[in-house]
Amino acid sequence: MAAQLHGSGLCFHGAVRAKLDRVTVLKGSYLMAIKAEYIWIDGTEPTAKLRSKTKILDEGQEPPIWGFDGSSTNQAEGHSSDCVLRPVKVTPDPIRGGDSILVLCEVLDTDFTPHPTNTRAKTAELAEQYAGQESWFGIEQEYTFMVGSRPLGFPENGFPAPQGGYYCGVGADEIFGREIVEKHLDNCLAAGLPISGINAEVMPGQWEFQVGPASALEVSDSLWLARWLLYRTAEEWNVSATIDPKPAKGDWNGAGCHTNFSTKAMREDYEPIIAACEALGQDDKPAEHIAVYGDGIADRLTGAHETAHFTQFSYGVSNRGASIRIPWQVEKDKKGYLEDRRPNANMDPYLVTGKIVDTVCSALEKKGLV
Ligand code: ADP
Ligand code: MN
Ligand code: MN
Ligand code: MN
Repeated sequence: MAAQLHGSGLCFHGAVRAKLDRVTVLKGSYLMAIKAEYIWIDGTEPTAKLRSKTKILDEGQEPPIWGFDGSSTNQAEGHSSDCVLRPVKVTPDPIRGGDSILVLCEVLDTDFTPHPTNTRAKTAELAEQYAGQESWFGIEQEYTFMVGSRPLGFPENGFPAPQGGYYCGVGADEIFGREIVEKHLDNCLAAGLPISGINAEVMPGQWEFQVGPASALEVSDSLWLARWLLYRTAEEWNVSATIDPKPAKGDWNGAGCHTNFSTKAMREDYEPIIAACEALGQDDKPAEHIAVYGDGIADRLTGAHETAHFTQFSYGVSNRGASIRIPWQVEKDKKGYLEDRRPNANMDPYLVTGKIVDTVCSALEKKGLV
């Protein structure tokens, strides 16, 4: 038995032994170790997935650069499989609690240049270039709880009553998964993420949370962490959450990620808001935007539900059938923000916020509306 324990790793090797001794001496026990959950975005196509693994840190230790096997995440070939994780945002870990932390990372190659799947790096450059315009984003993440291949609340055979009463509903006949939603909200708040609200959506088991307003990088980092917390929280109920833009076939709205946007000038004046809408509709811009707004966008933007057809660009006040909506309050106040209704639920916020900053901020700069 002793030999077996020995062989199973209970005999600490040199480095670990030394670390334990040091911690034991300093703290009187080795329970001061910190669990750091390193989270990153993988290379799965067409829609990237989140991955994570745990590193034990000493109390007070900065989360260091780390690495992983890219050949298991669609990020490298087996013969040179190492990828580098560089921490970009650290928050308290509401799942483990205590001193545990979540460490969102960007992926680098071993020469420390951004990995091809690292969409954050380019957005960081654009955000820096147009920092003077003080861009804010508020993103509405829609998602659906699934049990196997069925949305939560769908009967085993057939379909639930059609769309109508579920949006912002109340009652056990209309609401499915509220316990998970409440726990996810608490977890996001405990992690210090800038969550601004939640609501039930138009289909049973479909929900939304909003992140922001915050800068392009802050909102995007926070959205990726909020997504990770969503999947992780729902695990406890044996339910999965999906950001599939069309989780149920048939006459149901898809799932989107409406992206609300303003610059300092737009928050002060109406002319820059109209100029921003015009810039988004200029020349090839609609197609360029659609191309980075999430896989399967043609299936969601059919024109039959909630937004215009993906080939037709339009903007309008209070118009939820347009590509871009100017909220009524914004038109009344003659300042505020616009809502781009096109992005799919499965979009990459680094790509979407980067594209909007690039298109709108460059146009506003040219027109002197900054
Ligand atoms: P909807 O009426 O489309 O459902 P929501 O209330 O779900 O709108 O989401 C609106 C989002 O817009 C929120 O995340 C909010 O924080 C954000 N927002 C509010 N003001 C601004 C602004 N000036 N710039 C960018 N985003 C904003
Ligand atoms: Mn909303
Ligand atoms: Mn919504
Ligand atoms: Mn919206």
